[in-house]
Amino acid sequence: MKKHLSELAIFGGIPAFTEKLHVNRPNIGSKQILLQRINDILDSKWLSNNGVLVQEFEQHIASLVKVKHCIATCNATTGLEIAIKACELTGEVIIPSFTFVATAHALQWLGIEPIFCDVDPSTHNIDPQKIEALITAKTTAIMGVHLWGRGCDVEALAEIARRHNLKLLFDAAHAFGCSYKGQTIGNFGNVEVFSFNATKFCNSFEGGAIVTNDSELAKKIRLMKNFGFSNYDCVDSIGINGKMSEVSAAMGLTSLESMEDFISINRKNYKKYQHELSNIPGVNLITYDEKERCNYQYIVVEIDELITRISRDKIYEILWAENIIARRYFYPGCHQMEPYRSRIADMGLMLTNTRNLASRVLALPTGTAIGSKEIGKICQVLRLATSGGNLINEKLYQNLHAC
Ligand SMILES: *Cc1c(COP(=O)(O)O)cnc(C)c1O
Repeated sequence: MKKHLSELAIFGGIPAFTEKLHVNRPNIGSKQILLQRINDILDSKWLSNNGVLVQEFEQHIASLVKVKHCIATCNATTGLEIAIKACELTGEVIIPSFTFVATAHALQWLGIEPIFCDVDPSTHNIDPQKIEALITAKTTAIMGVHLWGRGCDVEALAEIARRHNLKLLFDAAHAFGCSYKGQTIGNFGNVEVFSFNATKFCNSFEGGAIVTNDSELAKKIRLMKNFGFSNYDCVDSIGINGKMSEVSAAMGLTSLESMEDFISINRKNYKKYQHELSNIPGVNLITYDEKERCNYQYIVVEIDELITRISRDKIYEILWAENIIARRYFYPGCHQMEPYRSRIADMGLMLTNTRNLASRVLALPTGTAIGSKEIGKICQVLRLATSGGNLINEKLYQNLHAC
């Protein structure tokens, strides 16, 4: 059996968490309202295919984002694939290498090669200065990712896209409810895609939304997400089944109604982490611009091993041993995952910042499932794990692994 910190006399003992604390436990709004909605769905006998709740969900998002068109989808990955298809992308598309693998997979699934571009270490977002060197005759688009809900350098990306006649898309899976330079994310580029997966800040169990101000594109996307049907017996284009179900929309609407509460809890949690981590050298919390709207869904720290003198991976194991289920996002990096790893073996050499971040970053638990007390304890574990320098840390680490 693994030992807990509490059993290690040298640390004075802190009580272990009896239940696992996970990163991205779902936020759940009013159960009562959700169940009422599900009841109504069952009574109406309309379970999918552009039902009233999906329509309401789309309108609600469009009005929150202040965007012309919103098309709800079964998830964001399928949403990205539909957006990519509707933009008629081919060949190669440039994406950041520090992202969730779905950004790359959505392209690869359609036979388009994702070209990995390194990120800016200060923003974690795609580095516009590194894009032009990657553009070839086959490049048809740039797809940015607003990582952790922090907006990409939209102007720089738009300028490069304009100069090279490329489409500009955004994987906005993290960025629902966020703004960039005062404008709500969802209004940039040709098209943006949100995720409402259970791990995201607002969820519809599974779900996504494609948003755009381009009416022609919106029309195409709407057809494509429903097999290309324009009418009962009429198919106008290639399509897929990308529809959101009514029960997902019910959850989505219920989440939207509690959205401000989720943000305020996330923000309070972020502030608590900020306070606690401010005196833990080498554990650096990423910052959010107070002038922007943000969902504060991601508590991301960068471990500076030169200061902590214990590796990120060891800290990660210590946290897990204490039932704190932190995550190494996005380890080991998209380019280190198949099918990309085999194809572009030397790619890692060019992706220095991505490689560094993938070895430094830890995401810590937040959301409505936890509060100040839990965060205090999580930070106490971090404080202990990083306090004694190598010697004590090695001892602690060995103890944790003593069977
Ligand atoms: C979650 C996520 C996705 C995929 O969203 P799904 O709704 O689960 O398909 C895509 N990109 C990023 C950056 C994500 O975090």
